[in-house]
Amino acid sequence: MPTLVLTLNAGSSSVKFALFEAADGAEAEPVRLASGQVEAIGGTARFQARAADGGGATDTAPEEGIPDHAAALARVLAWLEKVRPGASLAAVGHRIVHGGPDHAAPAVIDDALLADLERLVPLAPLHQPHNLAGVRAALGAFPEAVQVACFDTAFHRGHSALQQAFALPRRFFDAGVRRYGFHGLSYESVAARLQRDHPEVHAGRVIVAHLGNGASMAALAGGRSVASTMGFTALDGLVMGTRCGTIDPGVLLYLAQVEKLGWDAIAELLYEQSGLLGVSGISNDMRTLAASDDPAARFAIDMFIDRAARAAGDLAVVLEGLDALVFTAGIGENSAPVRAGIARRLAFLGAELDEAANAAGAAVFSMPSSRIRLLKVPTDEEAMIARHALRVVAPGTIAAAAR
Ligand code: AMP
Repeated sequence: MPTLVLTLNAGSSSVKFALFEAADGAEAEPVRLASGQVEAIGGTARFQARAADGGGATDTAPEEGIPDHAAALARVLAWLEKVRPGASLAAVGHRIVHGGPDHAAPAVIDDALLADLERLVPLAPLHQPHNLAGVRAALGAFPEAVQVACFDTAFHRGHSALQQAFALPRRFFDAGVRRYGFHGLSYESVAARLQRDHPEVHAGRVIVAHLGNGASMAALAGGRSVASTMGFTALDGLVMGTRCGTIDPGVLLYLAQVEKLGWDAIAELLYEQSGLLGVSGISNDMRTLAASDDPAARFAIDMFIDRAARAAGDLAVVLEGLDALVFTAGIGENSAPVRAGIARRLAFLGAELDEAANAAGAAVFSMPSSRIRLLKVPTDEEAMIARHALRVVAPGTIAAAAR
């Protein structure tokens, strides 16, 4: 019987999933068999799924509707049964946004852990409740499988107190008000690929720029995370699709005290209406902005590049130098102009861009003489979750984490 793992990434109204099979040999990557998503749960739901071999493709708006996460997983289960009849899952790996101060590694979910993660809801109110709804639904849908929590904060748990602390009275740090950092599964995935494909880069001082709809940067020293642009929440740091990134906290006071916005309205403004969307007034989507000749679209892209370049300078100070800048995620992997814009701003630090290689989408696009290597590396958070889950249920099939 093949060892199968399902990965789940449950959001407020969506569940993304992927099915993996353990590969032969401890060094081999798990093999992706299928992936898909349920969108608009509770609304006009839509189910999309595709097997890796192209079979079993489905794209439907089910007539019966999908009212909640449990119903979404029942739909996933029914589809899996169709494309892999009789298959049984060894594990379900869950993306959990917040592991708090204590969880530095994936963990098997039991009642005690679930209660622990519930206590972290106030630290990530927009994500954690949905992640946990996905866990509960999976416990019901796949009772035979081991449920494994994979935390987006875990990769950053080694940060020093200096990098974690805000300049607030100490008691807030003790109460958990710290910089945690997110996108950890993506950074771990990129670090593992660097270790495999560019071990000399992995060993050095590296900034990884995860530039997607959510965007952040992490400073890695020898593959370990030492600092991140994301802090207490996934709002901090870079300009994102709809999130504001770093902002003077005095603006929030002004919005509350002078504009009399309530906290829900402020949260919606900062999470949903800002970033590329808010600045351009056009779209949160980099492709749409890049195709527009509206000056407001250009301004939003310029701001995205400016804040990213400045953040890279900041993290280079933490690393006390920089050997490589690595781009990943939707924008990082696909937008040559954004990569070029950021790299050019770092020319004074010794980054020499190979314009032609970058435009051609080459994996390495710095000049041979460049002091800072410029790379793009695809991220695969789902494969990382699958590796973690397999390491728990079938340790012989998977190599130790690349760190
Ligand atoms: P992600 O959240 O990683 O899926 O990334 C989504 C972002 O990547 C969106 O802003 C997309 O517009 C952007 N993106 C994807 N493909 C391209 C492309 N070819 N050029 C520019 N941006 C892209």
